[in-house]
Amino acid sequence: MGDDCIFCKIVKGEIPAEVFLANDDFIVILDANPKVEGHLLVIPKEHYDDFMDLPSGMYEKFLSTAKDAVEKIGAKDFNFVLNNGKLAGQVVGHLHLHVLPRKEGDGPVNGNHLTIA
Ligand code: AMP
Ligand code: ZN
Repeated sequence: MGDDCIFCKIVKGEIPAEVFLANDDFIVILDANPKVEGHLLVIPKEHYDDFMDLPSGMYEKFLSTAKDAVEKIGAKDFNFVLNNGKLAGQVVGHLHLHVLPRKEGDGPVNGNHLTIA
């Protein structure tokens, strides 16, 4: 699984990305097309298609990694967005959580839609 997966390739270092932080199980990278300044993606190193594939034993590490990223970037206000499945706007088929630091006047993400895809 994951031979053609862009995020697996980033994890393996086969294609470049700005790695913001990393631990044993996750990397956090800068989104290549940021919707807001500091737009980050929390990505498990293992390939999981989507949230439903993530083993429950990883839930805590997933969220604590996201929290570490928020603390490191210094955001007080932020959105977590997880597009799960095509109809929900998931384009990259490897689980990832968007972290969107928010600033006064940066506007809603994609109008009033919940998806940012
Ligand atoms: P989603 O619509 O939830 O699947 O979001 C996929 C996200 O991955 C988008 O915000 C893209 O900008 C981002 N993305 C795609 N390819 C790359 C890449 N090579 N490096 C960093 N971010 C990427
Ligand atoms: Zn993958």
